Amino acid sequence: MKQETSRREFLTAGILAGVAAGCGKPNPFTSENENVQPTGEKVKLLSVDGEIIEVDKAFLKPVADLHTVSNAAARVGIAGKNFVMVIDLARCKNLKKCQSACNHMHQVHPGQNWIKISQMQDAEHTAKYWQPTTCMHCDEPPCVKVCPVDATFKRQDGIVLIDSDRCIGCRFCMAACPYSTRVFNWEEPQLTKEVAAQNYSCETSMPQKKGTVGKCDFCPDMTRKGELPHCVSACPNGVFFFGDMNEDSVTNGTETFRFSELIKDKAGYRLMEDLGTKPRVYYLPPVNRNFPFETGLENETGHKEAH
Ligand code: SF4
Ligand code: SF4
Repeated sequence: MKQETSRREFLTAGILAGVAAGCGKPNPFTSENENVQPTGEKVKLLSVDGEIIEVDKAFLKPVADLHTVSNAAARVGIAGKNFVMVIDLARCKNLKKCQSACNHMHQVHPGQNWIKISQMQDAEHTAKYWQPTTCMHCDEPPCVKVCPVDATFKRQDGIVLIDSDRCIGCRFCMAACPYSTRVFNWEEPQLTKEVAAQNYSCETSMPQKKGTVGKCDFCPDMTRKGELPHCVSACPNGVFFFGDMNEDSVTNGTETFRFSELIKDKAGYRLMEDLGTKPRVYYLPPVNRNFPFETGLENETGHKEAH
């Protein structure tokens, strides 16, 4: 997977260099990087005119993926897919690798998290455990029902997204969500230059905008490429499983199970079932644990929050 990513980034850099060279404008890499010394090593690229050109390797740099799905297509979702997540509580040690990967990849504002990990204890004498929560991508989403401008919506593949171009920041959806999964962007987001230059896409949820609401999006840009959401890939303990109910299959990248068997065999459940929200996130109970309950293992660089 890593190899594919670097190849894609390499190609993106190549295309941009080709565009710059082909349109006769100053090369943005040379003007931005006056101190960069040419290596003498040339890379062949295809210009917009279809010509093969050569660019010094020193002037190439990876950029974030250029998203090609229109916001109209992003609202529809991926045909034939029926996404689902399973979170195995027996495996979670609160390392927060899921959270830091999500924050980094979506450039979530410092101090905010789309994935929260809570310390749980169901009753006085029962064992403590860690519980990660994402957006539940409810099939009966209260957030969607209350949005006055159709900014938050449910797709055919089950994913609930927000179109920040439409969001007016009324926060009705935040009040309606029983899982407290949404966050409000009170401040200007801290974006890298590459992300700030991108056109907004509601499928990547980036660039985020001040005065709008954000939340876990199940990384639909990754799933469209056949890759796993960032939290799933980042967890070293295989806590998160993602998959397609139509294929009855979920994977954490290492292990793959039939969704129906996994839920049945391990007594899977959903949070706040009695509300009728029909979440797409299932939990496996924290029994037969891989690790004893411990605190203080979270990423040293993680945000210091209660969750
Ligand atoms: S968890 Fe909250 S934000 Fe996500 S779909 Fe359900 S109600 Fe909406
Ligand atoms: S804050 Fe935005 S997404 Fe939420 S209900 Fe208001 S307009 Fe809709």
